[in-house]
Amino acid sequence: MGIVLKSDAELEKMWAANQVVCDVLDALEETIAPGVTTGDLGRIAAELCDKAGATSAFLNYAPPQHPPFPSVLCASVNDVVVHGIPSDETRLESGDIISIDFGCSVDGYFGDSARTVAVGEISARARQLLDVTQEALERAIEQCVAGNRMSDLSGAIERYVEQQGFGIVRVFGGHGIGRKMHEDPPVPNYVAGGRNPRFKRGMVLAIEPMVNVGSADVKVDADQWTVRTKDGQLSAHFEHSVAILGDTPWVLSRRDSRRAVATA
Ligand code: MG
Ligand code: MG
Repeated sequence: MGIVLKSDAELEKMWAANQVVCDVLDALEETIAPGVTTGDLGRIAAELCDKAGATSAFLNYAPPQHPPFPSVLCASVNDVVVHGIPSDETRLESGDIISIDFGCSVDGYFGDSARTVAVGEISARARQLLDVTQEALERAIEQCVAGNRMSDLSGAIERYVEQQGFGIVRVFGGHGIGRKMHEDPPVPNYVAGGRNPRFKRGMVLAIEPMVNVGSADVKVDADQWTVRTKDGQLSAHFEHSVAILGDTPWVLSRRDSRRAVATA
């Protein structure tokens, strides 16, 4: 369907949806502690989504050949890369890492963001994984200026992650976002061949590097959702929804990001 550019008024609406996403992730991050289940986190996210008058982007989301996703939240612990299903059986322990990924729409416009959080005390290696993944996302955001191309963004992620000796997951990536959660263009976390769109004002990209301590290879559980590292090692995931303006990217899913841009 091609890339849909958003007007300033539409970007404001996307900002509003993304601020709800940020509120939900902040609340979950405060709740995350040893003893909490991912089922608890799913229920809290659902309640906050309702209270905000937002509509979940994930609940009952069903790509072809997939059962509908059963929660408003993806909760992915340790070797789970993305799309973990919240469960009362999955109880967090000190030393775990958990990716929380939440998306919703407000007034017909979508927001999508994720972060990976430490549970209690984590290993130095796990901390390094979180830092590298977050830094990869920051480096990608820096590339979100008009005139750049997708390969500038993808290359920034791929180069940095590989320099750090970690594996960048290739089979999943980011996406355009707007009136749908998944729009054109795909936002690969490595330099893919083929289409390489130039960034223009009004493009909005959900950028989401997924980084593995070991090999980049992943497998999917029998539930058809849960994506795990093939080698069982840790994986982390950070995501922001970012609007292209001119020289200064607008990170819609960052707390109070409007003010920063309005005064820039
Ligand atoms: Mg997401
Ligand atoms: Mg996404």
